[in-house]
Amino acid sequence: MIDRLRHWLHRRRHPARYAQLDTLLRTQALSHEALLEQQQRELASIINVAATQTPYYAETLAPFLNHAPIALSSLPILHKALITQHMDGLLARDADRNAVKIGHTGGSTGNPLAFWYDDAKHELMRAGMMRSYMLSGWCPGQKILNFWGARQDVVPGGVFGAQLGDVIAAEHTLAAYEYTEEQLIEWAHFIQRYRPVLLQGYASVLSEVARAVIENGLSMPKTLLGVYSTAEVLTDSQRQRMELAFGCKVFNQYGSREIPNIACECRHGNMHVFTDMVMLESVAMQNENQLLVTSLTNRLMPMIRYDIGDAGRLLDGTCECGLPFPLMEMALCRHNDHIRTRSGKTVHPSYFNRLLYGKTQIRQYQWVQHSLSRIALNLVALQPLDADTLALLATSIHQDIDTHITLEVHYFNHIPCTVSGKHRFVIGLA
Ligand SMILES: [Zn+2]
Repeated sequence: MIDRLRHWLHRRRHPARYAQLDTLLRTQALSHEALLEQQQRELASIINVAATQTPYYAETLAPFLNHAPIALSSLPILHKALITQHMDGLLARDADRNAVKIGHTGGSTGNPLAFWYDDAKHELMRAGMMRSYMLSGWCPGQKILNFWGARQDVVPGGVFGAQLGDVIAAEHTLAAYEYTEEQLIEWAHFIQRYRPVLLQGYASVLSEVARAVIENGLSMPKTLLGVYSTAEVLTDSQRQRMELAFGCKVFNQYGSREIPNIACECRHGNMHVFTDMVMLESVAMQNENQLLVTSLTNRLMPMIRYDIGDAGRLLDGTCECGLPFPLMEMALCRHNDHIRTRSGKTVHPSYFNRLLYGKTQIRQYQWVQHSLSRIALNLVALQPLDADTLALLATSIHQDIDTHITLEVHYFNHIPCTVSGKHRFVIGLA
């Protein structure tokens, strides 16, 4: 089936999604200034919807509504615990209760979260994702191969459930939450046969496929235009490995299930914030710049100043790609990926990343802090670390973290991902 025919059929099958995509592409053609004005209007509108349509915000926003104009930074933060506590109070009164569904997310931040969504929200999410894919040169109707790690995505009724194996959508999804070496090679062969234009999935899984491709000298199809890394920290070494193996650019996407399409990298490698879908703030909290996200499109379950659990900064300046969206930079971690010490220090996960630089025998690793005096390094490795390397690791940790902390090293055939399928390379104390 040719791409254009597939595009035509898909458009007929998902008119709402394509209408949303057309709207998003029109917004993308606006000037930076016009976009910011639109963002302010949408923000005022969503605050009004929240205050008038939801019991939760009717109460929490009441003290702020008499002060015009309302300063977003003065409004209360929506923490994950509050969502769990006020799930019903966050659903808009005019929502069709027979049509709303409950989605699930979490695991990576240690806080499983439920949220409301409906078909319209799902279609908008998919439209936003299509716009991001188009930054690579992909066109609707061209093939995408997904490596989804989340178990809930590969069962009927999952967020992406209805799309699996959809020939018209030109999308195929592989269940990639667990794998062996043979499986990685099998997937590489599948890429050769399927000839997708995009690959999409968790960086940890796709970089393992990339490693298998390189080690086995497999050639990848020239159809590939981009690799979309999603929902997980993307390290520089993973990016380099994927670009080498697949012969195309890696695009880092930022979004979550509860608020999708927050930002995406362009061809120039800059991360652009989709200001027509979100208002993003970076606020200093807990020694980090925490990101707070306000969805500008979710009138079903308004989320204002949502503490998403990620750190990052908003950047000044423009990008040569010409997109009107402002720039941001992600930090390399989530809240609880830090290691804490008895002296009260918090150690950034990148420190632990660096400790293993150049240890090419390591296939996969995970640092787990079990207590303030005990840290484990779980490894999948071609051969065990030698005595000198172990001694150096222990010395570094004693010098930099705590003289009395015990380092244990354990070897595994496989390090399981979290339930949501993400691989976390540093796990701090809960
Ligand atoms: Zn750009």
